[in-house]
Amino acid sequence: MKKLLYQFDTDALPAVFDNVVAYDGGADHVAAYGGVTADNVGGLVEGAIFTRGPKDKKNTAIFVGGGNMAAGQALFDAVRAKFFGKFRVSVMFDCNGSNTTAAAAVAWLAHGRSLAGKRAVILAGTGPVGQRAAVLLAGEGAQVSIAGRKLEGVRAACSLLRERFGVEIQAIEAPGAAERAAAVEGAHIVLATGAAGVTLLEARHWQSSPTIELVADANASPPAGIEGVGMSDRATASHGKLLFGPLGFGALKLAVHRACVARLFEQNDLVLDAAEIYAVAKSMVG
Ligand code: NAP
Repeated sequence: MKKLLYQFDTDALPAVFDNVVAYDGGADHVAAYGGVTADNVGGLVEGAIFTRGPKDKKNTAIFVGGGNMAAGQALFDAVRAKFFGKFRVSVMFDCNGSNTTAAAAVAWLAHGRSLAGKRAVILAGTGPVGQRAAVLLAGEGAQVSIAGRKLEGVRAACSLLRERFGVEIQAIEAPGAAERAAAVEGAHIVLATGAAGVTLLEARHWQSSPTIELVADANASPPAGIEGVGMSDRATASHGKLLFGPLGFGALKLAVHRACVARLFEQNDLVLDAAEIYAVAKSMVG
C-alpha cells in the first residue's frame, strides 16, 4: 500500500520545500494542491478519509502549509472538522515551516538549561516562525515579548496567540533599529525571526548587554538578521553569550520535519501542531 501525502497549501503555488521534505520523510507519493482554503477543502478531505479501509488509512495523510498563518490555521481547523469516528487521517500543520523552525530553535535554546522566568524578546516575531516560537518559549516558562514595526500588527498577532493557545505575549512597537535595540534591553533571550535578508539588530547591542544570555537568528539569507551571529553557530560562545545561527538549528528543523512526516504514516489519527512538533524536536535535540 503506497504512502500518500496530500499537501494542501493556502498559497497559489504549493511550496517545493514542503514537497521535497515530504518525500524525504517517507511518502511514496506527494500530491500538492495550491489555493486550498477552509471553504474549498471539504471534498479533498472526503477523498482522503473515505477511500481506504480502517487498517490501511494510516497510509494516507495530510500536510497543511502556506505563507498565511491565519488562512493556514483556518484550513487546518476545517480539515479536522471533516473527520468523524474512524473516518480520519493524520494531519500536520507547518505553514511556512513555522512549527518545525520554531521547535528547532526553541529546543536548542532550552537544551540543557531552564528558560523559566527568563525574559525573551522575539524581533519581527509577527510572522509564522516568530508566532510559534513565542508560544513555545512561553510554554518553557519564559516571559515573552514580540517586537514588530507597527503596534497594531503586533497586537493582532498576540491576540491570535492568546485565543488559540491561551498564552500572554507582550506587544512592543519597534519601527526601526534604535527601537529594536531598546526592546532587547533587559532581555535574557533574543530571537530574530524577521523576513529573509533583513538585519534587525546591530552586534554592539547584544554584545554590550549585561543581561542577554542567548542570541538566535532564524534568517538564513545574508545579511544576518542579528549582526555578529554566524550562520552555523550552535551554542557558540561570544561576548559571554551563546549564539545560534539559522543553519545551526536548521539541521534539527529538517530532521524534525522529516521525522514528523514519517510519524504521520504510523497511525491514522495523529495531529501534529506546535506542541506535538516541539515534543519531537526536544526528543531529537543534542
Ligand atoms: P516573514 O513572515 O517573512 O517575516 C517575519 C516578519 O518580518 C514580518 O512579520 C515583519 O514584521 C518583519 N519584516 C518584514 N520586512 C521587514 C523589514 N524590511 N524590516 C523589518 N522587519 C521586517 O518570516 P517567517 O516566514 O516567519 O520566517 C522567519 C525567518 O525564518 C525568515 O528569515 C525565514 O527565511 C527563516 N526561516 C529559517 C528556517 C531555518 O531553518 N533556519 C526555516 C524557515 C524559515 P512586522 O511587519 O511586524 O515588522
